[in-house]
Amino acid sequence: SSTDSDKEVYKVGIDVTYPPFEFEKDGKYVGIDVELIEAIAEDQGFEVELKAMDFKGIIPALQAGQLDVAMGGMSITDDRKKVVDFSEPYFDAGVSLIVSDENTDIESVEDLKGKRVAVKKGTVGANYATSIASEVGFEMVQFDDSPSMFLDVQNGNSVALFEDYPVISYAIAQQDLPLKIVGDRLNDDQYGIGVLKGKNQEILDKINEGLENLKESGEYQEILDNYLAE
Ligand code: GLN
Repeated sequence: SSTDSDKEVYKVGIDVTYPPFEFEKDGKYVGIDVELIEAIAEDQGFEVELKAMDFKGIIPALQAGQLDVAMGGMSITDDRKKVVDFSEPYFDAGVSLIVSDENTDIESVEDLKGKRVAVKKGTVGANYATSIASEVGFEMVQFDDSPSMFLDVQNGNSVALFEDYPVISYAIAQQDLPLKIVGDRLNDDQYGIGVLKGKNQEILDKINEGLENLKESGEYQEILDNYLAE
């Protein structure tokens, strides 16, 4: 589709429950991902229309042709690569185990035996939990968004959750959440910007070129610092 300015408009799916990457502030969508895709669009001469949705809905919406681009602090995984072509990685993340800040008996995933663990649908954290749940012996409860998952642990319904390190660190610091990170990151996931596999090489080229230009100009670092520098 195109506008009066004749620029292509790409629909970008985002998960607005995911600060510092995507969230709502003063009625506007902001965050690292939002600023990055807008800066890439500016650099490459296209426009973006942001579509907020549950994270689990983003790849299906891409497959259904309702989106041109998928963001959402989305980790590049081999599984997703079956249906998504990813940009060059733009952020190092990785999944962490999180418990209440008063918890003293969970020191690793093995200690989750017999406990209830909160996960977010469609995420790498949920897949990781699923892959070890029966071996370790814990029960999982699934949520559509990160804040609901955090609350389940804050309320003591679940003893632990899995979330990406940069997201949980930001939430703990900014919202003073009574949660803490246990141990080291469990993987070294990186975030990428996705398009439908095999169909959108042109958009992907623009995204990669824009990303590289932003890195060279320093704007990429400015956007990160704007959210992450203390
Ligand atoms: N990075 C994680 C994933 O890709 C979580 C993303 C999210 O919850 N928005 O699965």
